[in-house]
Amino acid sequence: MMNLYTFVTTFAAVALLHFPAVAAPAQDDASHDAGKPVAIVSPDGKLSVTVETDGGVPVYSVSYGGKVMIGQSPLGFTSNEGDFSRDMSIASSSCFSKEYTYTQDKIKKSCVGVRASGCIVTFAGPEGREMSVEWHVADNDAAFRYLIPRQGGTGSMVISSEATSFRFPEGTTTFLTPQSDAMIGWMRTKPSYEEFYTADAPMDAPSQYGHGYTFPALFKVGDSGWVLLSESGVDGYYCGSRLSDFHDGLYTIAYPMPEENNGNGSASPGIALPGKTPWRTITVGATLAPIVETTIPWDVVEPLYGTSRPARPGKGTWSWILWQDGSINYDDQKTYIDFAAQMGYSNVLVDNWWDRTIGREGMASLAEYARSLGVNLTVWYSSSGHWNDISQSPVNRMDRPIVRKKEMEWLRSIGVGTIKVDFFGGDKQETMRLYEDILSDAADYGIDVIFHGCTMPRGWERMYPNYVGSEAVLASENLIFGQQFCDLEAFSACLHPFIRNSVGIMEFGGTFLNRRMSRDNSSGNVRRTGDAFELATAVLFQNPVQNFALAPNNLEDAPAEAIGFMKDVPVVWDDVRFIGGYPGKSVVLARRSGDLWYVAGINAEETDLDVVFDPSVIGADAEDADARLYVDDSVESMRVCTPGLRARRRRDPRTLSLTLPQNCGFVLVMKAAGAAD
Ligand code: CA
Repeated sequence: MMNLYTFVTTFAAVALLHFPAVAAPAQDDASHDAGKPVAIVSPDGKLSVTVETDGGVPVYSVSYGGKVMIGQSPLGFTSNEGDFSRDMSIASSSCFSKEYTYTQDKIKKSCVGVRASGCIVTFAGPEGREMSVEWHVADNDAAFRYLIPRQGGTGSMVISSEATSFRFPEGTTTFLTPQSDAMIGWMRTKPSYEEFYTADAPMDAPSQYGHGYTFPALFKVGDSGWVLLSESGVDGYYCGSRLSDFHDGLYTIAYPMPEENNGNGSASPGIALPGKTPWRTITVGATLAPIVETTIPWDVVEPLYGTSRPARPGKGTWSWILWQDGSINYDDQKTYIDFAAQMGYSNVLVDNWWDRTIGREGMASLAEYARSLGVNLTVWYSSSGHWNDISQSPVNRMDRPIVRKKEMEWLRSIGVGTIKVDFFGGDKQETMRLYEDILSDAADYGIDVIFHGCTMPRGWERMYPNYVGSEAVLASENLIFGQQFCDLEAFSACLHPFIRNSVGIMEFGGTFLNRRMSRDNSSGNVRRTGDAFELATAVLFQNPVQNFALAPNNLEDAPAEAIGFMKDVPVVWDDVRFIGGYPGKSVVLARRSGDLWYVAGINAEETDLDVVFDPSVIGADAEDADARLYVDDSVESMRVCTPGLRARRRRDPRTLSLTLPQNCGFVLVMKAAGAAD
């Protein structure tokens, strides 16, 4: 395992230097009759995008296997250089095929092969206006962005709004999370992508705050299949976008709210011309497999810089999650460093207030102690700044390059390898630039970056080599804050693999083996899930740096097999396969790391979930005598055994067959077929 991991990271670093331009747009192979619709069909012929105009409005539609997944929907935008969403006609198009591979050690797959049909459709409008829509159409993913040339002598533009919309067929149901009001919540830090999801809601249900929904957004298109919308390639040159509420049959791309970040910064992105917008991505499947397995966010972006060293995936612990603010002191942190070392983990996260309670000299000595045990410290910062009321310190160290570089120089001098920067609150271009500036400066100092209280990543795993995680989810901390979150833990966990975690790594900070959500493990909120359920989340929730919510007492009070599992579970994955489930109800998926498959499943439903699974469908070795099954027979009782795969009838494949009660889970660890013993 270690060998493979080393190989992948080293290769990724080398690959960066030699990487060919993504998609090396090929030769024209279809010149176009002006004004005629343009059809862009995926390599396998099933996914089809049609681009045309309707009364001067640029429009597109998407079908899969002949079924309409997105009906005719507007394209274009309005800017301070005019309206590019009406009176337009197709002037030309240029189509080409794309084929390339790339490697990654931070996402769901380590080596991704991309095959797609590319096309640039150019529209002309009044007064010499011109824009193109670039399409990338793979077998289960369509992505598009606007390419905007200089408009005569004009070299800059402010885009005030987009016409870009999505018209789903009638009867489509939604799995969405609302955008919150700005400047609400803890110390006026929202929006921070920490809202509840509603599952299987009708399209015309109004959003909770009236501001629409954040990406990613999942839609069930009747019996035709599933569509996951998101965006990628958002850097400091654009804002993050979201979806509007449902109006006139459409969801429309919406920009940040002017109130975000205390009103600082423009809500409308400004771009230099020639320029481009981020990619909007549409993942389509007859089943949920393409939704869970998609790599579209990373397929359409490239690394923006190189680094002196690859990012450091790894496992860690953090005292703050169970022991809270009172534990940010030298002795408790030393206890957690010792605990991490006992677990064989490479990280300990020191959360807020350390500058006051441990001090800079204390941190230097703590970092040195950690290093002597092979443990890296992750050190917390507030991003702010002048846009919220945060007093948790350190503050004002990450918002300007002069102080930020000084801070990072100090971090490097004491051997800190990772920072966690919290409390951003907004998707304006100004904020995207801050994310990018922090990442870029940190790369210069050999530091990896985790974001909390933040937006969703948009292709950042590949764009920024030292980016290793974002929260952007109602994460583990909420299980400490309120019993209702514990009561909903299984429901939420059954959403993330299909939605939030499908398009971006997710720093959830979970896997609890405490029964009660407190330092003494006998007070506080009650965990509703089985131990194997918690182990399963370590596989289901994917992030290359996992800060697990384990505590030193778990060495004594948790099942030894669970601790053993948490010592061994990988954080770097080679492949993923969706096996079964339904958002909010259950999920079973398999991840492969090297020669081992980890098949993980959980059930949120009151009715028992029957899991029947043939390991050969993922290429696992059904004869593996060392295979291990961790399964909750009930919430109170986890069993660890050899899985007892058996042919249910003569000539049937050997299958795993088990029953999961509500809030229970399982993990099956088995070798890949053909793997050496
Ligand atoms: Ca949070």
